[in-house]
Amino acid sequence: MVTIIPTSQLGNKPEWIHCPFCSTDALTTLEQVDPIGEANGLMLFLCCCMPVTVYKTLFAKDIRYRCSNCQNEVAYRHRVNGITVREPPAHIEEEYTSQGEQMKL
Ligand SMILES: [Zn+2]
Repeated sequence: MVTIIPTSQLGNKPEWIHCPFCSTDALTTLEQVDPIGEANGLMLFLCCCMPVTVYKTLFAKDIRYRCSNCQNEVAYRHRVNGITVREPPAHIEEEYTSQGEQMKL
């Protein structure tokens, strides 16, 4: 018996979701994305005198959630902006593209 949770409520461990890409109940796999990279040394230095909340924000990693069945990215958790649910390309694709073009202008 597994509990299926909404993709938007994924946490820091693998959980069961109903994958929108393969329409299967599958366990997510987590992939940590380190947005800091080479700046780590500098960040360590800067964070010596920073409040804990700032420290946590800077050092938290983004997390990419994949469906263990089809390997598609089902969600992405940004350390600041929160979780973004990925949807399979469908009728929304066109709308998304036009919004992107508007933002560039
Ligand atoms: Zn899937």
